[in-house]
Amino acid sequence: MHAFKYHRPGSLKDAAALAAQSPDHKPLAGGQSLVQAMKLRLASPSDIVDLGALKELAGIRASATEITIGAMTRHADVEHSADVRKAIPALAELAAHIGDRQVRAMGTLGGSLANNDPAADYPAAVLGLGATVITSQRRIAADDFFKGLYETALGQGELITAVSFPVPKRAAYLKFKNPASRFAIVGVFVAEMASGVRVAVTGAAACVYRQKDMEQALAANFAPASVAAVRQAAGGLNTDLHASAEYRAHLVTVMAKRAVEAALG
Ligand SMILES: Cc1cc2nc3c(=O)[nH]c(=O)nc-3n(C[C@H](O)[C@H](O)[C@H](O)COP(=O)(O)OP(=O)(O)OC[C@H]3O[C@@H](n4cnc5c(N)ncnc54)[C@H](O)[C@@H]3O)c2cc1C
Repeated sequence: MHAFKYHRPGSLKDAAALAAQSPDHKPLAGGQSLVQAMKLRLASPSDIVDLGALKELAGIRASATEITIGAMTRHADVEHSADVRKAIPALAELAAHIGDRQVRAMGTLGGSLANNDPAADYPAAVLGLGATVITSQRRIAADDFFKGLYETALGQGELITAVSFPVPKRAAYLKFKNPASRFAIVGVFVAEMASGVRVAVTGAAACVYRQKDMEQALAANFAPASVAAVRQAAGGLNTDLHASAEYRAHLVTVMAKRAVEAALG
């Protein structure tokens, strides 16, 4: 690990000022990805801006139509939140199956989204529910946030402060997980919203994406058989030591069908 300067600002304003002063900085959330990247020298920031003291970035607020979760909220807090369990049980269940107990105790919603690992779970919920990512500068619709492999719409020095999730009529997330890390080999989030049906797929490609053929099929008839008939093309999907593109394509249909079954209860 290279040497770096450590900062622990007490307010979002100070954090934003530090980020602006040091263009080569990195915000630190739970350190679950960043510290490993620094140890491996895949990242060597000049400055670390620890967000741990920013109370305004943690916590969960519920209204009749949306759940807003602070960027520094740990996965375990989402998993155990009575408000999330009541309004969007699929989101609480998703959080409950991230990594292991230690990862859930430290990992954060904001860190997961900013990192945008192609196999991460939260991007599927954010895109599947059509959530809004709130930053220190603006509000970004989920459809505009995820740009590619580990790439997001966040600009230099821009911090995620919270995410606002609209409450669906029904939703579910199913993943075929890597048994060691529990990252998604393929994960599918299905949601029936007031505005229509959304289907988001993670783990299969370089970046989370919407499966529009499945959305169309489910809009006509929200039933497992509707998605079971939709085949995902393997072109452009990931092949690695865990699964081939063809296997992942098959899993997209299988996980989508199971997610619809789960959403229907
Ligand atoms: C063993 C292991 C198993 C895991 N399994 C899973 C799994 O099954 N599913 C899954 O989805 N994830 C999994 N993860 C990832 C984990 O869920 C973390 O959320 C993820 O690693 C991000 O970590 P973090 O929140 O601690 O952020 P950090 O590691 O602190 O930061 C990650 C990146 O985001 C940036 N960042 C952090 N917060 C902000 C912010 N508010 N605004 C802007 N940028 C920010 C940082 O600068 C850094 O670039 C696993 C991780 C480990 C180590």
